[in-house]
Amino acid sequence: MLTEKLTAPGVFDVEQIRKDFPILHQTVNGKPLIYLDNAATSQKPLAVINTITDYYERYNSNIHRGAHHLAQLATEAYENARKTIAEHINASTKEVNFVRGTTEAVNLVASTYGRKFVKAGDEIIISALEHHSNIVPWQMLCEEKGAALKVIPINEGGEILFDEYLKLLSPKTKIVSIAYVSNALGTINPVKQVITEAHKVGAVVFIDAAQALPHQKVDVKELDCDFLGFSGHKVFAATGIGILYGREILLDTMPPYMGGGEMIKSVTFEKTTYNELPYKFEAGTPHIEGGIALGAAINYINAIGLDNISAYEHQLLEYGTKKLLEIEGLRIVGTAANKSSVLSFLINGIHPYDLGVLLNQQGIAIRTGHHCCQPLMDRFGIEGTCRASLAFYNTFDEIDQLAKAINKAVTILK
Ligand SMILES: *Cc1c(COP(=O)(O)O)cnc(C)c1O
Repeated sequence: MLTEKLTAPGVFDVEQIRKDFPILHQTVNGKPLIYLDNAATSQKPLAVINTITDYYERYNSNIHRGAHHLAQLATEAYENARKTIAEHINASTKEVNFVRGTTEAVNLVASTYGRKFVKAGDEIIISALEHHSNIVPWQMLCEEKGAALKVIPINEGGEILFDEYLKLLSPKTKIVSIAYVSNALGTINPVKQVITEAHKVGAVVFIDAAQALPHQKVDVKELDCDFLGFSGHKVFAATGIGILYGREILLDTMPPYMGGGEMIKSVTFEKTTYNELPYKFEAGTPHIEGGIALGAAINYINAIGLDNISAYEHQLLEYGTKKLLEIEGLRIVGTAANKSSVLSFLINGIHPYDLGVLLNQQGIAIRTGHHCCQPLMDRFGIEGTCRASLAFYNTFDEIDQLAKAINKAVTILK
């Protein structure tokens, strides 16, 4: 658990923090594990693991329906977690919908808001940096409605071209959907300005915040976004749980996504009345312990402090960039001025997958491939990259080990 020392201002005790993550303390192929695949999924602190165990040991029960003691405990814990998450992103609890993750959040908005309000000839804008889950649902919607998908281009560094974005905007624009932070390159997009401009033409904005939540403070009021989605597993909680934030007035106008239990007020064979927010979008028994543990994860990162996390990760990123660039033939893909702790790179003459395999032999976990961003890779004329994505439990020493391991692998592969 966290100590006072660690949360004291200006102090970031990474060794203390690492004690909260049991999985980090193991060897892989005889070497200490170095986990640098945090953009794919993050590791879980004891605060999260214990919350899940505690749920099953003490109060596992279905929520919202039961009069009995365990059902009351489970309901209270689940709704408290919703409150924690709502406060964290500065939303009301009615606006915080539990979903399975970012993918479901995008699909939910595309299939409800999108289906209701997007018509033939309308336009939806995304960026060249998007994850497949923020591309495909919009393509499906455009196909169904006869609408057009427009893409904001990026420069060589991986930054969106804002002037081009302004040119794409028009009264035909109904939805703009963009990543806050790119999972493949680390680019932090100027989402606040993107939102301001979209609102001028009357479009609503969905923010894919999957890679923002683990690294920085996200405030939906400050951003003034209309929708925002993120995944629990990327923010140190479980898989299969995530959040869709939506402005209450928009969620109110939207038809339900799935029909079933919990999302109804009353059902007869003639007519069903839908439940109020946020339950309208939460059909069926949810991932109860996942929701509760997501609240615990949010409490955990807040105890460390997102400002501390951001500052530390920025130092790691700068150090890692410098270290990697010392390696002959290595080039970093994604050099945005405003960047999160992702190091995507290529080495002349070496296939990313081969390097990934050799690093694994040295206990180092990185990701290789297209990172669910094939159109982005096409933009750079590459098939994929090697990606080391850092979290606040990574260390400067691990970066040294990474650089050393890459050098060793290069001598083998060349
Ligand atoms: C991981 C990720 C997604 C998809 O999240 P799921 O948890 O797979 O639903 C979407 N966008 C970004 C930027 C991501 O990193």
